[in-house]
Amino acid sequence: QVPLKPGRSLMDWIRLTKSGKDLTSLKGRLIEVTEDELSKHNKKEDCWICIRGFVYNVTPYMEYHPGGEDELMKAAGTDGTDLFDQVHRWVNYESMLKECLVGRMAVKPVAAPKGFFPHVLVFLGRCYNGFLTELLKEPEVFNLVVLSKLLTSNLVFKSTNYDWFQTDSLITIVIYTKQKDMNAELVIVDCQDKQLRGEIILDDHSYLLGIDLDHAVSEDVTVNIAEKVGKVEIILNKKDNIHWKMLGQPWEGHNTFIKCTDRGLFYRKCKLVAKTEVTHDTKLFCLMLPKGTHLRVPTGQHVYLKQVIAGTEVVKPYTPVLPFLPLDFQEPPRHDGVHIYLMIKIYSHGLFTQALDHLQIGDYISVSNPEGNFKKSKIQTSEDLLLLAGGTGFTPMVKLLNFALTEVSCLRTVKLIFFNKTEGDILWRNQLEQLALKDQRFEVQFILSQPSKDWVGKQGKISSSLLSEFVKRSRNDSKVLICICGPAPFTEQGVQYLKDLGYSQEEIHAFTA
Ligand code: FAD
Ligand code: NAD
Repeated sequence: QVPLKPGRSLMDWIRLTKSGKDLTSLKGRLIEVTEDELSKHNKKEDCWICIRGFVYNVTPYMEYHPGGEDELMKAAGTDGTDLFDQVHRWVNYESMLKECLVGRMAVKPVAAPKGFFPHVLVFLGRCYNGFLTELLKEPEVFNLVVLSKLLTSNLVFKSTNYDWFQTDSLITIVIYTKQKDMNAELVIVDCQDKQLRGEIILDDHSYLLGIDLDHAVSEDVTVNIAEKVGKVEIILNKKDNIHWKMLGQPWEGHNTFIKCTDRGLFYRKCKLVAKTEVTHDTKLFCLMLPKGTHLRVPTGQHVYLKQVIAGTEVVKPYTPVLPFLPLDFQEPPRHDGVHIYLMIKIYSHGLFTQALDHLQIGDYISVSNPEGNFKKSKIQTSEDLLLLAGGTGFTPMVKLLNFALTEVSCLRTVKLIFFNKTEGDILWRNQLEQLALKDQRFEVQFILSQPSKDWVGKQGKISSSLLSEFVKRSRNDSKVLICICGPAPFTEQGVQYLKDLGYSQEEIHAFTA
């Protein structure tokens, strides 16, 4: 993020888009844009960008871009889809930039070279049947760009498939993933209003089932997983005891296996059931998943919340926590499967958090599928775990702590170095201190950057000297993992100091956007 000029906040942008001003300079017309035309609009004062085939005139948006004008200019006059996906594919640009829409890219049809088509299709057809049916409708003219994209990024030749059967009262859908360490976190199911969406995450790929069911089912859905053989069962309860002739109508994208990053984010509405104070400005929100949803947010991952603010959809990421820290290590706490807890700081001028704070108990908010690149296995092979958190950068550390202390026996030390501005900003201080008393492996160090004169503990901002004092291996050859999360400059500086202190890239995990 860069500092924006006054009057250039997201809210100011939303206001401008509602003002009726012609932001494309095309007087509301939509045009077909050729590559040649697009490339001409490559200056700050005249900048068009293509995202997923749609072209936007982002000239008026320049000064409002949270990442700064230079970042936006990297895609000026070109197809910025890949760049956009790398940085923030979750941002709902369609809604934010709808007044800037110039039109669609003109598709350049390319005749398929002779002899090329049949065997490519056979080859693709085995694993991509639904999508190919569409392509096959026009076999003469084939968009080679689409094909090359499929070949390079989307297609993985893994034969995930599904089957279904029924009894008088149940419909059982069985998906054979052939993945050995299948678990509940990798399966996300949503069943509402005769629509069934099931997504299974297999490494960095996603398998999707999407069906408009033939008949009504009740709200409860059961998901059974045979972890060793990778079999997933989705069990639906028929509303009426009738024989189904078919499962239903497949959606576009049904039975496909593509890269997670190429799959659109899916949201379901969750009910706010509780809101409790954590500190003077931070609250714990408890959201309830709908009955037909099966979703577990993995350790180290976040979700996106979506709200309509002043008529525009706004999306922000949040990292689920637990209702409290684990103080009883007899067995790992069971996920109740129903609630998602979010610890959120309410900023007095924050666009999203102000709207969140105004939600009433019983109101609904859209919550996405989980995302994130943290791998739990990194903890399982470590002896020392060091967690550096700044402010609400503490949120990913909650589940990490829980996992480390309840499920990883090879860890010798777990240390949280928690940076805050003031004493009143420290999240779950009591719980952390109790945890340190209860588990000898765990230690917590609070460091304040704006302490009151009564503070006797450590003070300062993240620095090389503070880190060299607190970040240490328990033995010279210990395998260490250092996780860091907080304001972007805090994280960036922290990573640099750690590298200067001799820690390798593999030993550091930075939580970023
Ligand atoms: P904004 O409107 O973005 O403003 C926030 C503050 O910054 C305000 O004081 C505003 O005046 C100032 N500001 C905003 N933009 C600028 C700018 N360009 N220049 C100068 N000042 C600016 N937060 C949590 O509380 N809990 C979490 O669990 C959590 N998880 C996250 C996970 C991830 C992966 C990421 C990337 C972020 C996470 N966040 C979390 C932060 C969260 O996504 C929002 O950024 C945060 O809630 C602020 O949103 P907002 O719209 O209310 O504030
Ligand atoms: P804050 O302003 O209360 O500051 C927390 C600590 O960070 C303080 O010690 C402060 O001195 C230090 N700090 C702040 N700005 C700094 C800078 N420029 N350089 C060095 N140190 C700095 O923090 P907050 O308001 O709670 O914000 C937390 C941040 O963490 C947000 O930016 C949020 O987006 C981010 N976050 C990220 C994730 C993620 O997974 N990526 C998760 C949660 C929170």
